[in-house]
Amino acid sequence: MALKICEHCGSAFIDGGEEAATPICLDCAEYLDEVYREAWSWLRDRTSEDGRQRRVTAARLAAELGVEVKSIEVLVKMDRIQTSASSAEERAEKDLETLKALRRSMSGERYRRDRK
Ligand SMILES: [Zn+2]
Repeated sequence: MALKICEHCGSAFIDGGEEAATPICLDCAEYLDEVYREAWSWLRDRTSEDGRQRRVTAARLAAELGVEVKSIEVLVKMDRIQTSASSAEERAEKDLETLKALRRSMSGERYRRDRK
């Protein structure tokens, strides 16, 4: 038996079972099972709609299911569901925007310098 901190709700609980990579308390385990089932049926429906496997981000899935992003993230961490790595893609898009803005400001600076 060991005192663990639940990955989902952050409360301490006594775990009598085997070592789990992601400690989850009993209440959260039950709740996450529900979320998992809903996530699965949502993903399954989406897949048949589109005729192909579509991956979603944890944030998108959480919004669709009306649950906390944290819940999805814990399920992903437990390897129960897989979400798209496209949070990285979203970041890349933002980086591109930053780059564009940077270029704009740089050319503006050059313009000002040329005017001197
Ligand atoms: Zn918990």
